[in-house]
Amino acid sequence: MRLALIAHDEKKPDLIDFAENRSDDLEHFELMATGTTGKRLIEATGLDIERKQSGPLGGDMQIGAEIASEDCHGVVFLRDPLTAQPHEPDITALLRICDVHDVPLATNLASADAVLDELMDQLEGEFDHRD
Ligand code: PGA
Repeated sequence: MRLALIAHDEKKPDLIDFAENRSDDLEHFELMATGTTGKRLIEATGLDIERKQSGPLGGDMQIGAEIASEDCHGVVFLRDPLTAQPHEPDITALLRICDVHDVPLATNLASADAVLDELMDQLEGEFDHRD
């Protein structure tokens, strides 16, 4: 199961805290992230993360393409609701494609925990099913 992690600059510390707290769970997923988010997460947690382009250079669109291909099964995207972003159209497109493909999407820390819990349940369900 593949999970995407993205955070705007003001929210990167929150995402790093989340990844540190939940690293045992995150290790069960194939992780991808936008460029700077991925770099910061790898430095902080040592998790294995595929880095896409930085968000403003097209990273959100690359993750959107993974979702459109049904190759990404959950997204944690900690947006900064207080700062205008130059790539706002890409952000909107990413949120939209999550809805098109019914991919679980968390845009704040409280829902990030909920989405990860749900995906962990799904993973464990798949594992039980195989036994
Ligand atoms: P970044 O991109 O991880 O490269 O900072 C995130 C974004 O702005 O969407």
